[in-house]
This record gives sequence, C-alpha cells and structure tokens, in this order.
Amino acid sequence: MLFISAFLFGAIIGSFLNVCIWRLPAGESIAFPPSHCPHCKARIHSWDNIPLLSYVVLRGRCRVCRAPISVRYPLVEALTGALVVVLVWRFDMSARLAVDGIFVAALIVVSVIDLDHQIIPDVISLPGIVIGLLLAVVGWGPPVQASLIGVLLGGGTLYAVAAGYQLLTGREGMGGGDIKLLAMIGAFLGWRGVLVTLVLGSFGGAVIGLGLMALRGADSRVPIPFGPFLALGALCALLFGDVLIQWYLHFALGL
Ligand SMILES: [Zn+2]
Repeated sequence: MLFISAFLFGAIIGSFLNVCIWRLPAGESIAFPPSHCPHCKARIHSWDNIPLLSYVVLRGRCRVCRAPISVRYPLVEALTGALVVVLVWRFDMSARLAVDGIFVAALIVVSVIDLDHQIIPDVISLPGIVIGLLLAVVGWGPPVQASLIGVLLGGGTLYAVAAGYQLLTGREGMGGGDIKLLAMIGAFLGWRGVLVTLVLGSFGGAVIGLGLMALRGADSRVPIPFGPFLALGALCALLFGDVLIQWYLHFALGL
C-alpha cells in the first residue's frame, strides 16, 4: 500500500517534470499558460491530465485534434513513480526523502533535456548547487565541508578535463553544463558521492560510447550527452554509495 501510494505520488511529480522538460529549454514559464496540446494549442483539461491514466484513456492522442502525444510523457511519469518507490524502499519515510526526491527530480529533468537538446539548463544546476549547500548547512545533506569540497571537486575535475581536451584537440568536448551538473551533485552528495558518480558515469559513458561507435562507425565527433550518465552515476551514488565505497576499500585495497 505504501509503495502504491509512493508510485502514484511519484507519477504526479513526473507529470510536473514533463512540463519542466518541455518548457525550460524554450525559456517558457513552468506555471503559465496552463497545459495545452503542442499541436493544436487546445487547453488540456484536468480530467485529461491525469498521470499515466489519461494517456491510456486517450490512446496517446489529443482529445481535440487527435495528434499523437509523445510516449515520453507516460514514460517520465512511470520512471518518476518507480524512483520514488525505490527511495522509499531504500530510505524509509523520513524528512530526507523530500530532499532526495528533489535531487532525483532534478536529475530526471536534466537527463531528458540533455538527451533532447544537448544542453543542461543553468536554471536547474546553478540553484541546485546553492540548494544543496544550504541543505548541508541545515543538516539535511552531507557534512558542510563534504558538500563544499564536493562542489569544488565536481566542478573542478570536469573543468580540468574539458580544458585539457580543448588544449589537446582544439575543439570543445564537454559542455559547461556537465561541469555545473557535477558541482550540483557534489553539493547534494559530498565529495565521496562525486567520486562514485565520476567512476560510474565515465564507465557507463565509455561503454555506451564505444558501443555506438562500433554500430555507427568510428566517428568520435558524434556527440553523446554526458549528463544522463552523470545522473545515473549520481543516482547509484545516492542509493548505494556507502556500500560501493566499502566494497572498493575491502576488495581493491584489502582494508
Ligand atoms: Zn491537439
């Protein structure tokens, strides 16, 4: 029952995240105008805007013009619902759940926007850095020092990689958005979380990148957004970071 409520709550949040994903890259307000069909501009009434259910009832089409609605909408709603269930399962019900929920919601939004537009909006990552640091100060995050070092380590590492790559190849390999995203992850998870995120994100990105090169031919200029891999790494770091670090210390270093 708890998990079902958590899923439904997450799906409603996911419905709001869809609005952010759609409107933030276009620089539109997320509050006005009310939801409308992107095709015919008809207002979408609240009874046609129920997460997951409306998509099924309308069979994926606008009620007015019958234009297809992207399957992205129910997918983001289902994903958000599933992740809220995972958070409740991992951390039980607590005040921290709201903090982790905000963090995960930001990760979902930046991942989908990065996949679509190859950008990570500053309007999420920069306030994210400040919010993460403030939460650490009031005791709802990692220790303040860990959070601060996380911001510097996260931003600094990727900045150094980006600058080095540009120096060596003369072209831009990594966007500034990734740098600010990892700084935000550092603010929420601390420097240990940044290390776990970097290792997992780089490994995931390398595996998928090499796979795509093998499929499409070795054109290293095909841009692969790094944001979703950082987000996935950060999610693993949030859920299992302590366990992963303990394993690593135990098996790799024999501690
Ligand atoms: Zn329509």
